Amino acid sequence: MKTWVPGADGSLFDVDNLPYGVFALPGEEPRVGVRIGDLVLDLAPVAAAEMLDVHHVFEERSLNALMAEGRAVRESVRRWVSGLLTEEPERDLVEPHLVPLQEVTMHLPVEVADYVDFYASEHHASNVGRIFRPDGEALLPNWKHLPVGYHGRAGTVVASGTPVVRPRGQQRGGTFGTSKRLDIEAELGFVVGTGSELGTPVPYDAFADHVFGVVGLNDWSARDIQAWEYVPLGPFLGKSFATSISHWVTPIEALDAAWVDLPGQDPEPLPYLGPGAVRGLDIDVEIEVNGEVVSRPPYRTMYWSPAQMLAHLTVNGASLRTGDLFASGTISGPDPDQRGSLLEIGWGDESAFLADGDVVTLRYSAPGTAGGRLSLGEVVGVVEPARG
Ligand code: CA
Repeated sequence: MKTWVPGADGSLFDVDNLPYGVFALPGEEPRVGVRIGDLVLDLAPVAAAEMLDVHHVFEERSLNALMAEGRAVRESVRRWVSGLLTEEPERDLVEPHLVPLQEVTMHLPVEVADYVDFYASEHHASNVGRIFRPDGEALLPNWKHLPVGYHGRAGTVVASGTPVVRPRGQQRGGTFGTSKRLDIEAELGFVVGTGSELGTPVPYDAFADHVFGVVGLNDWSARDIQAWEYVPLGPFLGKSFATSISHWVTPIEALDAAWVDLPGQDPEPLPYLGPGAVRGLDIDVEIEVNGEVVSRPPYRTMYWSPAQMLAHLTVNGASLRTGDLFASGTISGPDPDQRGSLLEIGWGDESAFLADGDVVTLRYSAPGTAGGRLSLGEVVGVVEPARG
């Protein structure tokens, strides 16, 4: 489909992408918009003018109300927006509500309910195992039986561009100090739209009924704090100081052409994890530090699929809520230039960790449904000196 919006056709934010975000014009309250090219479509006035049943959801300062409407509304709103931007007769109504990106401030798109972080890349888990346990098995015995994860801190999920203050805390031997091993983890995040009932697991084939869309995600990690605290209960303060996500939530429908078979699973997982042809996303990630690309992790090399992570997250009856965010874990491919953390990229070189003032940018792109590429936007963070 071609759009009448100047400059958008053939760009990474073409009409087959249409991610949602929360933007604010100077002096105005944040509200929901959709990106086309380098413009934001202010949906609230257009939806009100067209008397859309759900027009109120675009006046909110997060995507949660829109996401809570469920899959059918999600799909019909997407068709409506696509029509607005492709049908010439809509142009007179819509064009006055297109705002250049440089005139707006972007906000955190989702009011995050619960945040879960998985560990779904075999290459990442093996690399970390070799670094931390050089004399042991790279993978622990449970790793190929279940998608390992932990519950993180929803309240410190921040929008791309939010500065990251270097954490302080306890480190090896019970010493206290400023983290010197500040790291990134390039991940993909999945945002839940439709919740589920407490006590009832969500089956792996109900993924698209519950997941609204995808964000880029940087799980900032203080390795020295993490190394001291993580046994026996897992990550805590080494992770909870900040998790950055992209401004844009890419609807799952925009990724219809990006689904691929993952490399394969052995042993075969339990039935609730949907063994067989396990589908993941062909999303390319690019990690840039201070303007230099240091790695290109491919999401298609992951071991556990997004649907398996969702099934596992709820198999005990834990319920989902609108705004839940679950992340893939660090994306690392098999090759040295495909690693998703500085811990792996440096492999023992302390200078690989972040210095104050360093700027990290994660970029994500995928095949679009019209044959081109689409962008999931960027996740940017600058490291600020420790406080206190
Ligand atoms: Ca992580």
